[in-house]
Amino acid sequence: MAAIEMKNIVKRYGDGFPAVNDISIDVADGEFLILVGPSGCGKSTLLRMIVGLEDITDGDMMIGGKRVNDLAPRDRNLAMVFQNYALYPHLTVYENIAFPLRLAGASDSEVDEKVREASKTLDLDEHLDRKPGNLSGGQRQRVAMGRAIVREAEAFLFDEPLSNLDAKLRGQMRTEISRLQKRLGITTVYVTHDQTEAMTLGDRVAVLKRGILQQLASPRELYENPANLFVAGFIGSPPMNFVPAKVDGDYVELPFGKVRMPSDKIATAQGKGLLIAGIRPEHFEDASVVDSDKLTDETTFDAQVDVVEWLGNEAYAYVPFEAPPEVQEQLTQLEKDLDGESMRTQLVISLDGASRISEGDTATIWVDARKIHLFDPATGDNLT
Ligand code: ATP
Repeated sequence: MAAIEMKNIVKRYGDGFPAVNDISIDVADGEFLILVGPSGCGKSTLLRMIVGLEDITDGDMMIGGKRVNDLAPRDRNLAMVFQNYALYPHLTVYENIAFPLRLAGASDSEVDEKVREASKTLDLDEHLDRKPGNLSGGQRQRVAMGRAIVREAEAFLFDEPLSNLDAKLRGQMRTEISRLQKRLGITTVYVTHDQTEAMTLGDRVAVLKRGILQQLASPRELYENPANLFVAGFIGSPPMNFVPAKVDGDYVELPFGKVRMPSDKIATAQGKGLLIAGIRPEHFEDASVVDSDKLTDETTFDAQVDVVEWLGNEAYAYVPFEAPPEVQEQLTQLEKDLDGESMRTQLVISLDGASRISEGDTATIWVDARKIHLFDPATGDNLT
């Protein structure tokens, strides 16, 4: 196994906009790194440059301390696990796993030893005589990983391996990949556009937009301290609400009222004029189900609830609001970047399942003021 270091990596196709623009990421030995971002952000291109399927325009790609820019894919000793697993349908599980060893001219006894060891690790030992067509999606994935294990690859690379599966299977496979990666402790780089996969699988997540690294951090850090509007809107489901905001002392003026924020969180936002506040749906609550010691006039407001979607353990309430023209442009651009919808017109509030708020109500809503983010509308930077 080996660490992967990307140093100022650039990829240009023709003379257009760089598909990957000066990206530096160190993936530690044994780490699970996610590359995530919307379509076209450059994540697959970056992965393909690690594997050697794409030339590197500029920068250094290091694997295990060695520069690999000019090495052919087969000499990098990395294992790419594809979306369709690329198994041979006419070969048994045993022969599929054995394939790279046979190719390398290993003896029968060496093949047997390695295949049996890998299949034990992967819980495939009872299926060695089956063909891929008779396996579940999860088992097929494990065979593909088995093939990577017997090669003793330096790292696993995944390019959207679950995107063709239905939601239930995707969930199962996600857990399976996570469990296996931890058990094997193998360096892994995994590309996805799905923020749930990114958040649940990665030790760290690199968020990309238009070829540029926006933030590289643990899932928790991304959620709690997003660096900018883009990351804030990309991570979290349902997405963060963005509303216009003005800071006045320890208070922030929002379209639905004035809220008191902790002084340390609001310090750098002083005197900046009109800002964009970001508040996650789960950081609002029906005031009637919130502990009374949290409730003050300065953290509650009355809202006209338009629609309520009840899901059992929680409900989503929608509250229309009007954004002033000064921030419309920034919010429209953000909507485009995120493929989002109606950020400028409604607030999404996640309510506890015990809430009795219903459609048409004027309800008292509490907001967790410590969790409000304030963004500079010009740069998108998080000021809190
Ligand atoms: P997706 O999730 O849609 O696969 P991605 O984030 O993986 O997107 P890339 O496939 O890496 O994005 O593409 C990044 C950018 O580079 C895109 O603008 C794409 O159009 C461009 N691009 C990718 N491959 C080529 C190519 N062979 N020639 C020219 N441009 C390319």
